[in-house]
Amino acid sequence: MDTIGPEELDRRIRTRTLTDLRGIGPKTGAAIVQAHAGEVPEYLARLEEAHAELVPLADDVAEFRATLRGDLHTHSDWSDGGSPIREMAEAAIALGHEYMALTDHSPRLTVANGLSAERLERQLEVVAGLNEELRPFRILTGIECDIHLDGSLDQTDELLDRLDVVVASVHSDLRAESAAMTERMLAAVGNPHTDVLGHCTGRLLIPREQREGRRQRPRPESAFDAEAVFSACVEHGTAVEINSRPERLDPPLRLLALAVEFGCTFAIDTDAHAPGQLDWQGNGCERAVETGVDPDRVVNSWPVDELLGWTGR
Ligand SMILES: [Zn+2]
Ligand SMILES: [Zn+2]
Repeated sequence: MDTIGPEELDRRIRTRTLTDLRGIGPKTGAAIVQAHAGEVPEYLARLEEAHAELVPLADDVAEFRATLRGDLHTHSDWSDGGSPIREMAEAAIALGHEYMALTDHSPRLTVANGLSAERLERQLEVVAGLNEELRPFRILTGIECDIHLDGSLDQTDELLDRLDVVVASVHSDLRAESAAMTERMLAAVGNPHTDVLGHCTGRLLIPREQREGRRQRPRPESAFDAEAVFSACVEHGTAVEINSRPERLDPPLRLLALAVEFGCTFAIDTDAHAPGQLDWQGNGCERAVETGVDPDRVVNSWPVDELLGWTGR
């Protein structure tokens, strides 16, 4: 059971039975309760501060997490994140990470202050400067690129070519028919620039606030042919993201198990919009352990040279 309605969520929070649900461990459960209670835009940042040290990860999950060297999906205040790039990088360093891909949104996502080609070019210069200072830590250049309705990517080929990491995500028309959504995703997964398929179902488990007070309601998974999409991921060497945000936890466990069965590679990412959220990888690791993901198949467990060899494939 991966999606629950608001009433059921209320009931489970009241009766403290959230963690009876498949895939909701104590840490995630605590995060959901807190997020559900909070209604201000920065609730996720506060939530992280409140819960960072509350519940230790199970040993096997902690061990899995220790294999991760970085994060391939993060946002700064250049798009809809709350913090400067440097603060995100310093938090990643404090976690012991060797690298962090900075993947601010693409132009089309205006609600998230997506970066025009011009702003992205400027960001590349800023990142180059920070990398001089923060060595040996490495900020990998990147983007969370919208997948257009026709499956093309929302940035120039020239820029996509220059970036270290391209996460491609669907952010619009999430209720499209399965056939159309499948075509759209297949085109993006097969695009030679795409490295990671971001939060593949687009589901939201709990409501959340966005910039300018926009409130997003929970939503179900998008419909698509997961077998076709995951086999395309294998064929093109595109990693399936395991998104660790408590309101996403995407893909759902049954699809994650399917991706494992198909032999996909994975990126366990936080999609952090604040420094404290970089610590959310434990959520993704819990799910990876539960579905039998092999740590060697997780691209962000690889040393940076190996990782860049793969993204430059
Ligand atoms: Zn996204
Ligand atoms: Zn994101």
